Amino acid sequence: MRVALVNPRWSFEGSIYFGCREPHLPLELGYCRALLERAGHQTLMLDCHLMDREHESLAAEIAAFGADMTVVTTAPSYLFWRCAPPELRVPADFLRSLAGRGGKTVAVGPHGSVTPGATLRKLGCDVIVRGECEEVVARLADGLPLHSIAGIAFREGEELIVNGGPAASPFVEAPALTWPAEWIARHHHHHHRFDDNRRGLGAEVEASRGCPYTCSFCAKIEFRDAYRRRRLDLVLSEIDALIAQGVGYIYFVDEIFLPQKPLLEALVERDVQFGIQTRIDLWKPDLLELLGRAGCVSIEAGIESLTVEGRAALAKRCRLETEDLAALLIEARRHVPFVQANLIGMEEDSAELVTYWRDVLLKAGVWANEPVPLYPYPSSPSYRSLWGEPDDAAWERAHAYYLQAFSAFSDIQEKLPVPLEKLEASCCPAH
Ligand code: SF4
Repeated sequence: MRVALVNPRWSFEGSIYFGCREPHLPLELGYCRALLERAGHQTLMLDCHLMDREHESLAAEIAAFGADMTVVTTAPSYLFWRCAPPELRVPADFLRSLAGRGGKTVAVGPHGSVTPGATLRKLGCDVIVRGECEEVVARLADGLPLHSIAGIAFREGEELIVNGGPAASPFVEAPALTWPAEWIARHHHHHHRFDDNRRGLGAEVEASRGCPYTCSFCAKIEFRDAYRRRRLDLVLSEIDALIAQGVGYIYFVDEIFLPQKPLLEALVERDVQFGIQTRIDLWKPDLLELLGRAGCVSIEAGIESLTVEGRAALAKRCRLETEDLAALLIEARRHVPFVQANLIGMEEDSAELVTYWRDVLLKAGVWANEPVPLYPYPSSPSYRSLWGEPDDAAWERAHAYYLQAFSAFSDIQEKLPVPLEKLEASCCPAH
């Protein structure tokens, strides 16, 4: 089969999206491509965002390729599946431009994973993949009957067919990805990096997937949930290929980059710097020293609340006191030039307490953001505790709650986020 894999041209005006807006490698499509080609299929992988292309020109290329199936992602890379833009206007706009010229249309991403019926309706595509998509896309390309493929949703007449629960990739043996030279040459962005010592191009890599914790705000119930560590030789092979293409900085998209000595020791030997997101309570001073020596230049650590009660309310399962967490952050900063403590707006944390700890951390060179409000993503436990299992109106409900509940927004968000119905009005016919 001939399969087109598409990362659309993202735009975020009016969105509550608080992830990074720069282009990143669409890892989910990279894995799909590797598995498809291994099975003998022909692929055309396109990235409108990175290559600065219009949907119409992409659609024409897909038509010329003669795609039997076109796969579009509803989030800009696996890195942002847990905090995707809620609105589907961008993939919907791409599918509208494609206008039936790409064969069977398939959407992958966090939206269809949790609300397959609403996502099918809004996008007007043929099939939704629920959960981690790479193996399921390969099965779709094998041309098996849809009823025999787990982890998908589709319509038969008026009836919505949902085959089983969301898929989870085994991931441990996920192949070492390779990327087109022209993509890497344009990837100047060093994700979540703020020091001045930049060299080389940027890229994103996964060494592990999922997380053993279940924090209430974390949107990963349908994907990237259980913790899996990828085979080290495959991770290193991917990194070495990137270094050979001129990459000097890698961002590990792992939900939680756990201390892993063999990987860190292998990175010490390589001329590459990197950034991670992690929980600081899982690190010891000697491992923080090794982390810095291995080339880590950016740590984003989820502290969330500055009180034991606040962390308990978020189900963080953190055993340390705030003083201990602060000491570890400050120790990390001795070895790593940028360390961020992520904070969430919590009732348990008074304004005075937040000011006190932000002062302590900022004086020690650790960045701590102004606490930001929570968005109750439909794939998070928070959503379930507010409204139960997500239904077809889940995204609209979460969005309206967020807009009403918070009057002050994070300084990295649009100042005036607008209702979801308005964001999707021009391209999702369901509203
Ligand atoms: S530790 Fe991080 S990745 Fe894991 S559940 Fe909590 S917020 Fe999510």
